[in-house]
Amino acid sequence: MITRNILLSIVFGSACSLTASGQIMSDGTLPPDTKVTKGMFDTYETGDKMYWSVPDSLFDREYSVTTTILSAPESPNRGSETKYGYAGDMIGPIYFSLHKQGDEVWMTDPQHKRIIADPASDFARIAMLNPQQRIYKRIPVVSSGEGRTLIEIGNTLKNFTLFSMEPAYYDMKISMRLKERDRISDVKGKKDCLLMRISRTYKNMAIPMPGKSAPSYEGNWETGVCVSLMPKNPISVKRGDGKSYFEINKSVLATDGTLTRLPVIKRWRLEIRPEDRERYRRGELVEPVNPIIFYIDRNFPKMYRKSIIEAVREWRPAFEQAGFKNAIDARLAPTAKEDPDFCMYDNHYAYISWKISGMSNAYGPTPCEGRSGEIMGCHVGVFSSVMDVVQNWYFAQCGASDAEARKTVLPESLQCELLKMVITHEIGHSLGLEHNHSGSSMASIDQLRDNDYLNKHGLGTSIMDYVRFNYALRPGDKVDLRNRRIQLGEYDRWAIEWGYRVFEGDTPEEQETARWKWYEEQKKTRPELAFYDSRDIRSQQEDLGNDHVAVNTCGIENLKYLTSLDIWTPKSLTDEQVMKGRFRALSDHYNLWTGHVFAHLGGYYYEEDYSAGMETGKPRNPARKVSDTPEYMQKVLKFIQDYVATPPVWLFDAKLTSALHLDRNKEIKRIRGQQMDHFDNALQRIGKAKDAEKDEASIKSLEKLLNDVKQLKEKAEAAYKDM
Ligand SMILES: [Zn+2]
Repeated sequence: MITRNILLSIVFGSACSLTASGQIMSDGTLPPDTKVTKGMFDTYETGDKMYWSVPDSLFDREYSVTTTILSAPESPNRGSETKYGYAGDMIGPIYFSLHKQGDEVWMTDPQHKRIIADPASDFARIAMLNPQQRIYKRIPVVSSGEGRTLIEIGNTLKNFTLFSMEPAYYDMKISMRLKERDRISDVKGKKDCLLMRISRTYKNMAIPMPGKSAPSYEGNWETGVCVSLMPKNPISVKRGDGKSYFEINKSVLATDGTLTRLPVIKRWRLEIRPEDRERYRRGELVEPVNPIIFYIDRNFPKMYRKSIIEAVREWRPAFEQAGFKNAIDARLAPTAKEDPDFCMYDNHYAYISWKISGMSNAYGPTPCEGRSGEIMGCHVGVFSSVMDVVQNWYFAQCGASDAEARKTVLPESLQCELLKMVITHEIGHSLGLEHNHSGSSMASIDQLRDNDYLNKHGLGTSIMDYVRFNYALRPGDKVDLRNRRIQLGEYDRWAIEWGYRVFEGDTPEEQETARWKWYEEQKKTRPELAFYDSRDIRSQQEDLGNDHVAVNTCGIENLKYLTSLDIWTPKSLTDEQVMKGRFRALSDHYNLWTGHVFAHLGGYYYEEDYSAGMETGKPRNPARKVSDTPEYMQKVLKFIQDYVATPPVWLFDAKLTSALHLDRNKEIKRIRGQQMDHFDNALQRIGKAKDAEKDEASIKSLEKLLNDVKQLKEKAEAAYKDM
């Protein structure tokens, strides 16, 4: 809060002062009982009107608007697939500027698409002649003078899309707004933002689901709207490589008038204090001006809170590699008593919210500003049911090697470890990182069973891969708990360094050059930084290790082992629910793991070739397409023979399906269908590869492969018929 008693009296022409309750005593423009809230814009409320007093210094600046859901109506048709519509969800940021134009204030949509390389060039002048801004609203000036302008804003806040939930109407499943129910309450002012609680009533968007009626109802939504002043100086733009980071697209107008595309990475503002610059340059760790702090929803079950803090801090070594210490942290959101200044819908605070839902997921968004890609106002969401799915995965992937995984209720320490894995991954997204599905393709099966290797390198090089647990472990194999799940890896630390280190150079351009030179050197010499083409066999999701046949054989043998254990007789209804979930996890994993091996049929490796250097973030040479060796292809075919053409009868054990009240025939039909799809996709891939091939010998070997796979498919079909 700031106090500007003097300015107040100037705006309203006659003397006024604040009483203890914050009311204006009297003035010429507004009635004496007008309520005033000081802040970025002083806000005046009287009757159903609301005014902003805008200081001249804040015209021609940019503002962001975020709308956070504080409470949402219970939706009768909220399915487990609905990701949005919960308390903690954030809409935006959306941007506007304010400009004074005679007796009006224009609210405009600032355009950030274009970067002008040299504003003094002729082309820049011509470009500037084209209006870049769209006018949202023209608001009449109520009064002005002595450096401030008064406008009526209540109507705009209530009715203009920017401040409502309409921009996310589809995600929120809302339709018509009942205008007369809109209420603005609890206006708070801060030096660089305004916070308002706005309650709104919307009719729901009634989407009929197959076989269900679509009830129509009105729902009340409490929202927290934050209007925040954007920093005067955006952070410098850093070019992306089209894969490591989430990016925004910009176009650069060069001095000669040509337009080029510039992908800009999304990242947080991490700055060095001027007095620390020399130390940073010398390689000493320095604390950033503003560290990245995530606040934890107090609705999280108490047992998880410590783990969430640890999960966020797992990113610290990555920032240390980039030269920053204590760059990232998490803390429990303070109560109003502990910190009256804290407000979860103030978009200066990053937040992790807990949502009670059947949705088995979590998400880490990267809302950013359009000038520079700076991430701001980030709300990570964790759905309570994500715990069910990770526990089932852990059972399927580590149940053979860890007896704890088989308990109906997993020990608290284990549950916390599983949640940490989820949160660290989502925080990675919120730091700007994209998935890297090549991150689990380095380790050999022996390394995956070697605790010392795992202590140094982990299961994979990236937690941004879809890789969860160490299913290369057999019954009896012992490694530490941390080595049974994916951790932050070498690629992740490198990626944070590349995105966040302040590279040497006096200008942003020099720093960019140094940053890309470093990138090229690193990519050439460090295979652990691999980020293969998405078509590459190694970029598969949920896979593990550098030998799919070996590791997935182990995985499937583990599933078989689990079905052989005396653990499938439920003692209660809850037991049965848990076991059904776990049985489903086994059959899902069987399908996943055969799928990874099928991918080798007609699949390729795409080796990046940096020998000719790089251009705009990519190797100049196209990736080299490499096939599996004939020896490995034999192993692949043997795997299909052993695990697919020979159906997994252990998965259809009648004792097991009847104990869980499952329809055995339905289970067989489902698995059979999935495996036949794998066969068909493989045949299609091989056929395509053969058609594209020019080399006689390769065509011949692909023809042979095609026949081998066809025969295996026939064998599988016959075997399933006999079941
Ligand atoms: Zn993800």
